Amino acid sequence: MTDELRARLSEWLRQRPLLVALDFDGVLAPIVEQPEAARALPGTDKLLERLAAIGGVHVALVSGRALTSLRAVAQVAPDSRLVLVGSHGAEVGGTVVQLDDDARDALASVHAAFLALAADRPGVHVETKPAGVVLHTRRAPRDVAAQVTEAALGAADRPGCHVTQGKEVVEVSVIETGKGVALERLRAELGAVGVLYVGDDVTDENAFAVLGENDIGIKVGDGDTRAAWRVADPEHVQDLLRLLAHG
Ligand SMILES: [Mg+2]
Repeated sequence: MTDELRARLSEWLRQRPLLVALDFDGVLAPIVEQPEAARALPGTDKLLERLAAIGGVHVALVSGRALTSLRAVAQVAPDSRLVLVGSHGAEVGGTVVQLDDDARDALASVHAAFLALAADRPGVHVETKPAGVVLHTRRAPRDVAAQVTEAALGAADRPGCHVTQGKEVVEVSVIETGKGVALERLRAELGAVGVLYVGDDVTDENAFAVLGENDIGIKVGDGDTRAAWRVADPEHVQDLLRLLAHG
């Protein structure tokens, strides 16, 4: 963390109410091959809870994972103060947006196409979410990954499907959500005067896009971003949380 970022965070932290929102994978948890094996760095949970226990400071995990998956890997305690947002904002606190018939049909069709692409292709797998479906190619040979990604984008090119291409994933949602929409909703609910958002992937750019002058966007890792600040990896995110939680 640069001295400049440290100073900005310290100044920002004097206001109330504040929202600190973070993506999970690649931000709190190093990216691993098996998504279900992802865990936040040791000590991260305590820092998050400590930060959330500060009066007027709210902490949210905003993930593309389905809420059940996020809850499992983040291992938050039942009495946790953390707000969990899953499926890029389609799931908040256990409530899932209801699908209409068209959305249900679109989801079934893309789901079937993705399953066909994953069949007999080791390393390609399909994840089902309440309002979406995801094709994962991280564990596939590179030529296979490129081929099925193209086919998946083709299958998802239909009305009512919102496609996001992330790192080794093609994600299709049949409702219009995104981390930006989710973040704006949280900001309004909490009346936050400032938002800090930390993310590493393409889908996090939607969140960075809704940040204003009194907000702070921090991109983790390399790659183009709208975020004004950058740190290298989850270890550095932990440094940042330590500063926020302990002042
Ligand atoms: Mg991520």
